[in-house]
Amino acid sequence: MRYAVLSDIHSNLVALEAVLADLADQPIDRYLCLGDIVGYGARPNQCCDVIRELGAMSVRGNHDEAAVDVIKAEWFTAPARACILWTAEQLRDDNVEMLRSLPPVEVVDDRVTICHGSIPDPDHYTVSPADALISLAVMSTSIAFFGHTHYSEWFIGSDDGRLPSEHPTPAGGRLRTGNGHLYLVNPGAVGQPRDGNELASYAVYDDEAGEVTIRRVSYDIAKTAQQMKDAGLPEAMYARLWLGV
Ligand code: ZN
Repeated sequence: MRYAVLSDIHSNLVALEAVLADLADQPIDRYLCLGDIVGYGARPNQCCDVIRELGAMSVRGNHDEAAVDVIKAEWFTAPARACILWTAEQLRDDNVEMLRSLPPVEVVDDRVTICHGSIPDPDHYTVSPADALISLAVMSTSIAFFGHTHYSEWFIGSDDGRLPSEHPTPAGGRLRTGNGHLYLVNPGAVGQPRDGNELASYAVYDDEAGEVTIRRVSYDIAKTAQQMKDAGLPEAMYARLWLGV
């Protein structure tokens, strides 16, 4: 089975289409989405439509939750909250229903689990080995994917009581799994990378080869920025796309 794993699309349709074009010549059996389909960007309905058309199994991100229940955006920064309020006005009823129905965590099959921030808590930022342990300690599969930080990296569980090892992969990379270890993998963000690399990021997991590949894909950032500008979204939210922060 080959899984394509997409996270933090954030209504960036141009980046999402670039990732799908990169996937076009790769055989994929199953699409997985780690949440934050919407928020920040200017094409929320189109991104929801693409995820639905792919038949992707998806979990709920904090922006997906806030877009259908804006009180949850109370703790967001002012520009992020402005994007959520705009998104809530734009979303069609069927997409509101779709986002509302997303679960916080999903055990995809006997090999793979997906979540947004961590397995116990979609809002938790997994940024350190101690954070990773929170998910590694409760996962029932040998590999789990998470997003939320927009930072591509993986953690490998230790079997001798030490903290997991952390492996940032901002330029992409290849992870060999197996050997009885547990793996926690962040494929990076499709729509708003924050790991210093402005290219869209996603992962492919081939469970027969036991291999995760993280790929970075260039897209037309100026086009996404223009769409956001035209929608009246805050400049800070598209200026950062060129910087990958
Ligand atoms: Zn996000």
